[in-house]
Amino acid sequence: MENIILGSHVSYNKNEGLTGSVKETLSYNANTFMFYTGAPQNTFRSKIDEENVKNAQKLMKENNIDIKNVIIHAPYIINLANNKDEEKWKFTVNFLKEEVERAKKFGVNKIVLHPGSHVGLGVEKGLENIANGLNLVLTEEEGPIICLETMAGKGTEVGTDFLQLNQIIKNVKNKKRIMVCIDTCHIYDAGYDVSNFDAVLDDFDEVIGLDKLGCIHLNDDKNQMGSHKDRHANIGFGTIGFENIEKIAYNPRVRKLPLILETPYVSKEKDGTDRSYPPYKFEIEMIRNDKFDKNMLTEIRNYYR
Ligand SMILES: [Zn+2]
Repeated sequence: MENIILGSHVSYNKNEGLTGSVKETLSYNANTFMFYTGAPQNTFRSKIDEENVKNAQKLMKENNIDIKNVIIHAPYIINLANNKDEEKWKFTVNFLKEEVERAKKFGVNKIVLHPGSHVGLGVEKGLENIANGLNLVLTEEEGPIICLETMAGKGTEVGTDFLQLNQIIKNVKNKKRIMVCIDTCHIYDAGYDVSNFDAVLDDFDEVIGLDKLGCIHLNDDKNQMGSHKDRHANIGFGTIGFENIEKIAYNPRVRKLPLILETPYVSKEKDGTDRSYPPYKFEIEMIRNDKFDKNMLTEIRNYYR
């Protein structure tokens, strides 16, 4: 199979920094990765160690990881759609500004952002708030690109279809720095039939334009199409299925885009709920070999035990 750009979410912590993230990526035989610049559920961020970043960049070069394919995920608690509390909204805008500065320090060019939830304000107002916020963040002509992620439609989430995302993009002044991240689990949950991915891409192209597709979150889904649940499944173990995931990963129209796995960790024991082992090395191997392994979960437990 051709060499696609395939990696996963990896951890980042202040002790090992970006170098730790790259080492984890290499342990999965991946050629790209995505990380949060701190805990995904809070906005506390520690200082970036420049020496560590230099080492990480060197390690990437030595292992043919192109930093232009590396992604930062903004913390999922920040919500630009809701401006009921003016102070909180301003804090969010500022946090995102700082996140852009952090991305620059890492040399990373793409930041994935969940558009947010309108929490009662209505979809229109939510979309307007997001565009207004982004216009305050993307003030410089050049710089990292923000990729708005497609949402599953849980609660009052906005950005659940291409029309809504386009409405945000339309109102963002700096078009050069705004793109979209398609999450296969989320769009399936939102009602897009990903088993015909070419039709989904046709729709995306018509509404937004394929040149605005910045990356793909490649996940299987625990629920049925249109369920709005947002629960990721391991590759080949969900309702999208291995064959459809392969067709997405190897679709020539997304060939140059980073594909990022955000599938769940595998629990220690078969019946356990305790998340512990990363599935990414095994999922990447399956996708690259185009061969589904129905015993993958057991093999992961044996490998990391
Ligand atoms: Zn995602």
